[in-house]
Amino acid sequence: MTVTIIAGGFWGDEGKGKISAYLSTADNPAIVARAGVGPNAGHTVYYKGQKIVMRQLPGGFVNPSSRLLIGAGVLVNPEVLLHEIETLEVADRVGVDPHCAIIDPEHIEQDRRSDHLAKTVGTTGTGCGPANEARARRKARLARDVPELAPYLADVPAEVNAAIRRGESVLIEGSQGFGLSLYHGDYPYVTSKDVTASSFAADVGIGPTRVDEVVVVYKAYASRVGAGPFPTELPREEVERRSWEEFGAVTGRPRRIGEFDFEVARRSAMINGATQIAITNLDRRFKETFGATRLEDLPQEAREFIDRVQEAIGVPVTLISTGPDLEHMIDLR
Ligand code: IMP
Ligand code: MG
Repeated sequence: MTVTIIAGGFWGDEGKGKISAYLSTADNPAIVARAGVGPNAGHTVYYKGQKIVMRQLPGGFVNPSSRLLIGAGVLVNPEVLLHEIETLEVADRVGVDPHCAIIDPEHIEQDRRSDHLAKTVGTTGTGCGPANEARARRKARLARDVPELAPYLADVPAEVNAAIRRGESVLIEGSQGFGLSLYHGDYPYVTSKDVTASSFAADVGIGPTRVDEVVVVYKAYASRVGAGPFPTELPREEVERRSWEEFGAVTGRPRRIGEFDFEVARRSAMINGATQIAITNLDRRFKETFGATRLEDLPQEAREFIDRVQEAIGVPVTLISTGPDLEHMIDLR
């Protein structure tokens, strides 16, 4: 029975949604809790042949017996959250911390109107920065102030700690990625809070002593949306030649794409305290790996790549995603 945190090792969009959905199914946690910034995230989950983009709720919704919680550290846009609860039909198992700060329409407007945020930083325009600003000024509304959220309010720290005490598994899904951390990332080209494992524990109200595993997720190549340094970035023609093009799940913006950055990977594993590494999108780097479920079935060059990642970071690669579906996974745990 383990408490596991999922964190992004690059600049977001590493495939945390898939890893969260997979672990929710494989490990059957009693609770899956969303940590991280807010609805600026878009966690893609392929479920029953459908592509679902999760912005507020954790990917763990795919396990019908998991309770779905949103930690106090996470910003909530009530409209986005209520829409997700309705379309996923999960109203009976969602809990929102009363202390979640609320994104109001004015925050979205400020995010989009500000040249600094919209152009220089290149934010997602979802109002997260201005809402966290209001929160720091002690002016934000909280989830407890929104009547529409009343049916979902829950004491998230009490629930999570009680589950841990009972010896049940808990999965904590962080959002964004290491390079976007307000503390450790490429300031000012970052998001509005820290996005490493320690903060994700704090977001849902557990102490560091309660955490067993930190799974840091890397894509088999790297991507970045918005402005900021990207040392391994590839020119557009090269990205197209390799068929590594991607578009933002929330914004639709074309993502900047680059080679796997071993230096950033090493540093993000260190700061996150990684105990395991998950590699996603291996099939986009090595086409022949699509759908593989056993290490033995990978071609030599793909296995060499995995070995190289493992050696460079010094942490075992335990999960390798080889396609969008939950079954497309090599589980070495
Ligand atoms: P904000 O979080 O919307 O304020 O955006 C700040 C920076 O973080 C911008 O470079 C965004 O593109 C980036 N960012 C925020 N959320 C995500 C995400 O979920 N995936 C990738 N990039 C993100
Ligand atoms: Mg994303």
